Amino acid sequence: MQEITRRKFALLAAGAAAALPEISRPALAAGPAHVVIIGGGAGGAAVANRLRSADPDIAVTLVEPKEKYTTCFYSNLYLGGFRSFRSITFDYEGVRKRGVTVIHDTATAIDTAARTVTLAKDSAPLRYDRLVVAPGIDIKFETIEGYSPEAARLMPHAWIGGEQTWLLKEKLLAMPDGGLVVMSAPPNPYRCPPGPYERACMIAHFLKTKKRNAKLVILDAKKTFSKQAVFEEAFREFYDDIIELNLTNEIDDFAVVKVNAATGEVTTRSGQTFRAAVANIIPAQRAGAIAAKAGLTEGDWCPIHPENFASTKARDVYVLGDAAIAADMPKSAFSAISQAGVVAADIIADLSGKPREKGTYSNTCWSMVAPGNSAKIGGDYAPGILKGRPYLAPSGEFISRPDDSDDIRHQVYQESQDWYQAAVADLFGQEPQMTEP
Ligand code: FAD
Repeated sequence: MQEITRRKFALLAAGAAAALPEISRPALAAGPAHVVIIGGGAGGAAVANRLRSADPDIAVTLVEPKEKYTTCFYSNLYLGGFRSFRSITFDYEGVRKRGVTVIHDTATAIDTAARTVTLAKDSAPLRYDRLVVAPGIDIKFETIEGYSPEAARLMPHAWIGGEQTWLLKEKLLAMPDGGLVVMSAPPNPYRCPPGPYERACMIAHFLKTKKRNAKLVILDAKKTFSKQAVFEEAFREFYDDIIELNLTNEIDDFAVVKVNAATGEVTTRSGQTFRAAVANIIPAQRAGAIAAKAGLTEGDWCPIHPENFASTKARDVYVLGDAAIAADMPKSAFSAISQAGVVAADIIADLSGKPREKGTYSNTCWSMVAPGNSAKIGGDYAPGILKGRPYLAPSGEFISRPDDSDDIRHQVYQESQDWYQAAVADLFGQEPQMTEP
């Protein structure tokens, strides 16, 4: 694309923005268009790469506090002993090599009228022409009495990748034979719907192979969950004497409402208390804090236009990945990467005055249930209308069956391995370091 100048943009903007709310739009800054991306996870890194590969003239700045990103996706395999921590951790050198300016800082405020982003360490705000907000999730610590960032060091959630993931593995390694692991599964909606149950399988595999007579109790705020038939079959077939699944029912509410990190006690809404050797507390979640601070949320999450993931709350701002309300589209890295392609294409079309196509999306969530044995769920999504309101209509949905043959499960396992390799090479420009776990 040619360089987009202020004058050219002014001529193009009126038509291109027709579908969006009528709010006056500040002029573009002189020089190349500047896209700022908040969050260098699956969604943000994918948008950065899509923009740079489609149009090297666009200046792209990625703001991400962490110098190294540990993928939540595949982190359960690290817990199970199938991957090393190193193999799921990436720096941003590959992103920089693509011409993206990476700033390791935290966005603390967004001024959508002035089109600036304030950073924690850097005193000069960043000016943007288009802003992409992809901050992932924050943990709702306040929903569980006694749980806090400090308590999470003793009872890790490990639902945000990095130190938390590592802490949970350390606690599993250190627990005695015969110990009890207690895992709390969160209420909907949350990051990675099958994630807690893949984690249960992976922790149970670890216990089966490394800790004699240890048990895993799952305390679930929900009555049903993703890929339930497949997981329940795996729990019975591979981990019958290890996993105890407690789903909320008409009599008992197994939502965890209270913990004592010092004693290891975990208490459910129905009043049962379990004493854990290791507690993995996964609370309710919300969009990363910057989203609410910038006025981009409705409740806990960010409403978007389904055709392009533009925020419904602010002009020239996109929200994607886990922070967005994407109807039935699960909060997954696959979804975030799929949304990123649409967001990048929309930004490029908008900036160059080309017609803005309605996006279509897809998702697949793989879960490893035992060595070389994975199940999947997925589908496609397109903008539609439900009860008079825009939403993302699902189609072409698929799901593994509980009685799939070993061969099919092995093929699905191989697909998931291939997806991970391709996804991280795409996001971070690096092959995973396949060291021993
Ligand atoms: P993230 O990847 O979390 O990235 C957000 C980034 O924003 C973070 O790096 C954060 O540091 C940064 N950030 C936050 N606030 C700010 C700020 N104010 N300023 C600057 N930067 C900020 N998905 C799959 O597709 N397949 C799987 O197999 C899978 N398995 C999973 C297993 C587990 C155990 C978990 C927990 C998740 C799994 N997921 C999986 C889900 C996947 O990890 C998320 O859906 C995905 O990471 C979402 O991408 P995101 O960009 O929205 O958020």
